Amino acid sequence: MEEDSQALAADALHLKTDVYTSLGFGVLLVKITGFYILDPIVAIMVALLIIKEAWHLTTGAFNFLIDVKLSDEEEAQVIEVIEAHRESFIECHKLKTRKAGNSKHIDFHITVPEEMSVGEAHCIIGMIKKDMNEIVQNTRISIHIEPNSDVMVG
Ligand SMILES: [Zn+2]
Repeated sequence: MEEDSQALAADALHLKTDVYTSLGFGVLLVKITGFYILDPIVAIMVALLIIKEAWHLTTGAFNFLIDVKLSDEEEAQVIEVIEAHRESFIECHKLKTRKAGNSKHIDFHITVPEEMSVGEAHCIIGMIKKDMNEIVQNTRISIHIEPNSDVMVG
């Protein structure tokens, strides 16, 4: 997340540099040529440049906010944790990961024996979440539990 903010800062810096460069060039052009008619033209050009760069910056910023999945590396780590708890449940499905801004989300279902107590299932979830939190920080983990029966599987 730190790299992401740095990328935004770098973009902002890029915008500033571009604008200052054009501004400097424009002023110089007016001074050299004495064509003061160039003044508003340069102003318009700079304004257009700002709009263009701002648009670029804004769409970039939106991309940053749009949900994307965790990196392959992080997903592999998540699967590794699930596998480490493999004997605690029957099977795992619907694994989804999401990254929105600074926060990460991990979502999946596990199937447990129908007769397992709520307390026991809750304990399994707790252990998986604890291990997962150690490898992926700043993450919201949601584990859906379902009984190993043909009814109500979703
Ligand atoms: Zn399910």
